[in-house]
Amino acid sequence: MNQKDQWIEIPEEVRDLYKIWRPTPLVRAYGLEKALDTPAHIYFKNESVSPVGSHKLNSAIAQAYYCKKEGLTNITTETGAGQWGAALSYAAKAFGLNLAVYMVKISYHQKPYRRSIMETFGAEVIASPSMSTKAGRKIITANPNYQGSLGTAISEAVELALETPNCKYTLGSVLNHVMLHQTVIGLEAEKQMEMAGEYPDVVIGCFGGGSNFSGITSPFLRHKLVTGKDIRVIAAEPASCPKLTRGQFQYDFGDEIGYTPLIPMFTLGHSFAPANIHVGGLRYHGAGSIVSQLRRDNFIEAVDIKQLDTFKAALLFAQSEGIIPAPESSHAITAAIREAEIAKEEGKAKTILFNLSGHGLIDMTAYDQYISGDLSNYDLTDEELNKTLGQLEQIIK
Ligand SMILES: *Cc1c(COP(=O)(O)O)cnc(C)c1O
Repeated sequence: MNQKDQWIEIPEEVRDLYKIWRPTPLVRAYGLEKALDTPAHIYFKNESVSPVGSHKLNSAIAQAYYCKKEGLTNITTETGAGQWGAALSYAAKAFGLNLAVYMVKISYHQKPYRRSIMETFGAEVIASPSMSTKAGRKIITANPNYQGSLGTAISEAVELALETPNCKYTLGSVLNHVMLHQTVIGLEAEKQMEMAGEYPDVVIGCFGGGSNFSGITSPFLRHKLVTGKDIRVIAAEPASCPKLTRGQFQYDFGDEIGYTPLIPMFTLGHSFAPANIHVGGLRYHGAGSIVSQLRRDNFIEAVDIKQLDTFKAALLFAQSEGIIPAPESSHAITAAIREAEIAKEEGKAKTILFNLSGHGLIDMTAYDQYISGDLSNYDLTDEELNKTLGQLEQIIK
């Protein structure tokens, strides 16, 4: 909401908790460079070293802090693969708040370990859609076998917050304040690149709603906007959930039922139900409004990447760098590898920076399936896409 101040201080209490794992390492990926035999220099910012294994904790701690300061006792949220829920569970406990998490049903069953992590930190976890809310009951009645989506889980979490005293709903991506919290990633990277004596030609982040992408890229985009620095910024999204590459820029709801305010965003339509691919964190129908506007004005590029390509890249990265990446992060890795391959073809030096948003140690079921040949690409047809895009009210002509 603040449109006046260029800088917003990180509160002392938030910094104290950040100190547990921040600053995160900026790593030169020598192993990957060698494996690709590329003249490009590849750097990655390693957000996987946070206590919950992803960048999500940067915003979870800030949000729990502000909720506590406001005198709240309870918060609610939704989670897809469980990354945001895990982060917020830890943050809520740190500030003495009670947390209820609506977890997308398919992940609740397929990814039980993240549910256990949330419960370990003391949160209550409910599979969504559930019978505990009007929104959930409505969806279950219409479609008893529905495996859930982030949009549905958001509707449920918002409804519970509205009906519980002293309670607010929190969101782990998409909204502008979340992007703001995540800029700590890029601000550190900016200093660390300077220490390494380099400046990136390309900055890459994987893209769900846009928080880790905005986090790593905003501080660099600032140079592009203010001083005209020549720098490319790339969002890497899954081909099965391609809001930035195949969506529409339109006012849309952030949730499935339509409880949230309308947000101008690149969207696939709020009733879009993404395929059950293994990147829970990227299966969301819309993009944050600032990122959407930047995309619309061509300040940033977007690429869509197929599931099998991301796992191939993930294995190469794991084998050359020793870190098993989150399936979400593998989209950024794939885009970085493509840039490094282009550098090789052109015989040109190039500095690439990408964000490793998290590790994949709790996503081994997905690796298992890839290694045993049970994963496939999911081709989203125009017909499918037009169904949900066609339901969008054309407010922006
Ligand atoms: C949630 C998540 C994402 C996607 O969310 P953004 O808001 O787009 O960053 C990416 N990577 C990981 C590891 C995640 O947990």
